[in-house]
Amino acid sequence: MFNVILFGPPGSGKGTQSDKLVEKYGLVHLSTGNLLRQEITDKTPLGLEAQNFMDKGRLVPDSVVIGMVDSFFDKHKAAKGFLFDGFPRTVAQAIALDELVVKKNTEIATVLALEVTEDELVRRLLHRGKTSGRSDDNNEEVIRKRFSVYMEETSPVANYYNAKEKFFTIKGEGDLDNIFHLLCAEVDLRMQKS
Ligand code: AMP
Repeated sequence: MFNVILFGPPGSGKGTQSDKLVEKYGLVHLSTGNLLRQEITDKTPLGLEAQNFMDKGRLVPDSVVIGMVDSFFDKHKAAKGFLFDGFPRTVAQAIALDELVVKKNTEIATVLALEVTEDELVRRLLHRGKTSGRSDDNNEEVIRKRFSVYMEETSPVANYYNAKEKFFTIKGEGDLDNIFHLLCAEVDLRMQKS
């Protein structure tokens, strides 16, 4: 198995680049944001609980997200690898993910972080909000809250993987294909070593 984490703040392009990466490398896309939005659409108890947090730009509790990832793993036993998008978002989630991958006799090969300035992120998210139908992209106050949550709760995850020498940053601005090629170069390098 070959597992990659695509890391970065809201609006950094994780979703767009994930789609391209899963297609090229045949990985299973695990986006906790997408899974949570599906739970909301399906009006499940988990979705109803999650919506309160998501509407405010806050993180859904770790136990809920980790449980959801665990069952996603169980549903994709034959996967040749996963691309994690928007997960882990806290150090507790990173530790839980390590435990999950160990149970599967595998590991996280690399964490690729997309770096984008905050002004550009706000611009992108407000633009996306016009077409995505996502209420959390429409409101600048909620967007700013998501950034502060990112700084406080998610950015420590970078240090967690940096300490394991698995963390690599890539400039997430400019031409989409260029960014994709930079990501692929890192993935190819890690694949050779694994
Ligand atoms: P995303 O689509 O990744 O931008 O996620 C949208 C929202 O879903 C976030 O603002 C959080 O409220 C929630 N969410 C997604 N992934 C996670 C996660 N790993 N942990 C906690 N909350 C999450």
